[in-house]
Amino acid sequence: MTAAPPARRSRGVAVLGSTGSIGVATLRVLDRHRDAFHLVALVAGSRQDALAEQVAAWRPQLAGLVHGDEDTPFASGAGVLVAAATHPDVDIVVNAVVGAVGLDATLAALRAGKRVALANKETLVMAGPLVAEAARSGGGELVPIDSEHSAVLQCVTAQGSAPSRLILTASGGPFRTWERDRLARATVAEALQHPTWRMGSKISVDSATLANKALEVIEAHYLFGLPYDAIEVVVHPQSIIHALVEFPDGSVLAQLGFPSMELPILYALSHPDRLADEGLRRFDPIAAGPLTFEPLRNECFPAFMLGLSAGRAGGTMPAAFNAANEVAVAAFLSGRIGFGGIAGVIEDVLTRIDAGPQPTLDAVRATDAEARRIARQVVA
Ligand code: MG
Repeated sequence: MTAAPPARRSRGVAVLGSTGSIGVATLRVLDRHRDAFHLVALVAGSRQDALAEQVAAWRPQLAGLVHGDEDTPFASGAGVLVAAATHPDVDIVVNAVVGAVGLDATLAALRAGKRVALANKETLVMAGPLVAEAARSGGGELVPIDSEHSAVLQCVTAQGSAPSRLILTASGGPFRTWERDRLARATVAEALQHPTWRMGSKISVDSATLANKALEVIEAHYLFGLPYDAIEVVVHPQSIIHALVEFPDGSVLAQLGFPSMELPILYALSHPDRLADEGLRRFDPIAAGPLTFEPLRNECFPAFMLGLSAGRAGGTMPAAFNAANEVAVAAFLSGRIGFGGIAGVIEDVLTRIDAGPQPTLDAVRATDAEARRIARQVVA
């Protein structure tokens, strides 16, 4: 038995990427926990009408639109992300923007001593060591929202020992059982049909190529400090077990739940505490049904393998992988390349790029820009 924890003051939250799927889910979670948290800032990408509705409902102190024109009633430009992330009344920054644009806000928030609840995994993949340094220097704290990493955090929290091995699960995406030649011709609509998660288009395509799982392995490496040899991936089509964590004695802990981002969001806000939440579906092992595992078919998912090798290469190579992937996915979504072309673009970029060993922020930005330039050339 433990005593009830002392009542905490309400913590201020900024939501970056508020109109995307994680942002909207975050607002649903906050709505159920108005005693524990209050919303201070909302920043959306370009959906002004959706942001206006959120602002009317929540009345935040700060509202911004990253891609607003001169007529927008909101503060606009990339600077609003940093302004929201460093707002003095903000304790927790939920960074749910898509892609490299989220990096400055993560760094600024950590330097300002905030907790960053991170759904923007690209931030960590691009600049893992710099993000860790920003947290150290500013006293900030990085807590993952990604379901696999939330699972790992939940398994390692309050253990007497560091983990010795992580096994991240992958649903396998919509093409888990497709043969290679059919995969090369997959359409955008097919790639967006994720079997277990409803997500934005960029991450849905990443889940179809399994580039997402490579990003997650790199994310896990930086978050939990384990070498790449100790981070494995297993395909688990039901998406019930989110990660498995092995300890030095060989014991393995797992975190389970029906697929919902609201639990990892809530945990990122409340960690290391847990808040009662009747809005989340209770687990039912019978309804979950058989849980199965299978190896990832490396030969069918070259983007995954390219991402792993970029992670192992380290330095600015993960930033190059991320940038190449962002350009390739955008090209696929707009019909300029086929599904099979995504990995082709990434491979060309990683072969041609001159990645550096020391990830200074300037080096990261230069590599990101150069990788995008090469990727656009390859796409054209
Ligand atoms: Mg994930």
